[in-house]
Amino acid sequence: MLLLLLIKGMKNKVIIIGAGPAGLSLACSLADTDIEITIIEKKSTKHLSSPSYDGREIALTHLSKKILEELGVWKRLSSKTISPIKEAKVLDGNSSYALHFDRHKIHKKALGYLVSNHLIRKALYKEAITKPNIKIISDASVVNVNTDEYSAFVRLSNKKKIQAHLVVAADSRFSPTRQDMGISADIHDFKRVAIVCRMKHQKQHCNIAYECFHYGETLAILPLAQKNTSSIIMTIPIETSSLFMDMNTEEFNSFITNKFNSKFGNMTLLNKRYQYSLVGVFADQFVANRFALIGDAAVGMHPVTAHGFNLGLRGQNTLSLQIKFALEHGLDIGFLQTLETYQSKHRRASRPLYLGTNAIVKLYTDDSLLAKITRKIMLRIGNNFIPAKKKILNQLTEISV
Ligand SMILES: Cc1cc2nc3c(=O)[nH]c(=O)nc-3n(C[C@H](O)[C@H](O)[C@H](O)COP(=O)(O)OP(=O)(O)OC[C@H]3O[C@@H](n4cnc5c(N)ncnc54)[C@H](O)[C@@H]3O)c2cc1C
Repeated sequence: MLLLLLIKGMKNKVIIIGAGPAGLSLACSLADTDIEITIIEKKSTKHLSSPSYDGREIALTHLSKKILEELGVWKRLSSKTISPIKEAKVLDGNSSYALHFDRHKIHKKALGYLVSNHLIRKALYKEAITKPNIKIISDASVVNVNTDEYSAFVRLSNKKKIQAHLVVAADSRFSPTRQDMGISADIHDFKRVAIVCRMKHQKQHCNIAYECFHYGETLAILPLAQKNTSSIIMTIPIETSSLFMDMNTEEFNSFITNKFNSKFGNMTLLNKRYQYSLVGVFADQFVANRFALIGDAAVGMHPVTAHGFNLGLRGQNTLSLQIKFALEHGLDIGFLQTLETYQSKHRRASRPLYLGTNAIVKLYTDDSLLAKITRKIMLRIGNNFIPAKKKILNQLTEISV
């Protein structure tokens, strides 16, 4: 009882594990409360303050832009680094028929916006360090988390133990903390990798994004802000990755140029190629007593539908609103009942997208005749059945969620 009174008298404290984009966003969302926020990150301060380019160009939805604006983070991104996507086209095999999305249909300047992942991380970090109630402990890993009725405890690699009312894990799709808390997850290894790089090309991209589902591999080209420059995402079976990673530059350039049938003229590699293993994750629970999962630790998506960080932002926003509701009503921010509303809202928002994305990947990596026919039919339904197209467009852009 005495312990409960002590905890009750204590200033509200939240520990966030992981200063990735999800963890930093939550810290910024809670910065306007009087909660003491501690972020634990295993990487160094140097890495956090100026993260290096990692090949990822993140397609942000309208909702994500709005959340980043509200957090004061959007204005930290130079307009020269933001690329509006005006149209998107999905193609199948060698056919020129495309499922087509156009910004005019949503009466917006863009379907969404492309920003490099390292720049989002940098902007979030720069915003977080201006907040007096956010403390970032870098160069320290969380090695153990446990919670009881009154408190949550986190043990760090530097032997320190810290206490809070609530621990939030944003420690990646392979979240060691999720495992530590005994939360199981649906983990789907696609047995494929994404190879990403930037390429310069002779012809203009006109701010159109293409997703080409070839047989054997998927190729996406995303229009970047720099003139005649695009991000290339190749999704291929894991066993062929070394072929493309080790290919010399000239061979790679002509391979990609030919893959696009010289639509963009000659294409030239601008930097190194980055490789990501593709694993989808959906945690069986997003919360436990005094504990919550956000970002990829809760839902790790295949990048084909570009939902990963968008969902991460949406989830942390839902959780922060729930925590603020608890504060306003004098409730304990770490109680399971407080967290369960976050869980049910975020599961409702993310489960259909997770399952839908996995179904798309399954269909477009299956090269059987039936799958090939189904793929063509799906593109035509997507184009011609207006309610279906509207739904896809809404999910893609998050203009009215
Ligand atoms: C090729 C590719 C393209 C993508 N494109 C898009 C896109 O277009 N749109 C989109 O919305 N999403 C996209 N994504 C997904 C997006 O990149 C992720 O969803 C997002 O980066 C996840 O952020 P996070 O903060 O949850 O996790 P992470 O970025 O993985 O960050 C986790 C952090 O936790 C730290 N950490 C881990 N363990 C510990 C520990 N024990 N102690 C302390 N710190 C720890 C790590 O060091 C790291 O900094 C893409 C992903 C890939 C791979």
